[in-house]
Amino acid sequence: MVLTVTIDEDECIGCQSCVELCPDVFGFDDETEKAFVYKAHSGEEECIEDAAAACPVDCIEVEEE
Ligand code: SF4
Repeated sequence: MVLTVTIDEDECIGCQSCVELCPDVFGFDDETEKAFVYKAHSGEEECIEDAAAACPVDCIEVEEE
């Protein structure tokens, strides 16, 4: 299964929870102080879903392809 991951950067508050839980998929931009997605298409389901569930503003969207 391939997952497509996107972040709504307008909503992101820069808490870095997603980066800590799933560093191969999520990165952090020190200039904008927002998270970004390294790998938009990934098979790392558990880590991605944990990160999406941990996001305090629910701005990580995960879609199955
Ligand atoms: S968990 Fe959500 S709010 Fe926190 S850095 Fe990641 S995308 Fe932004």
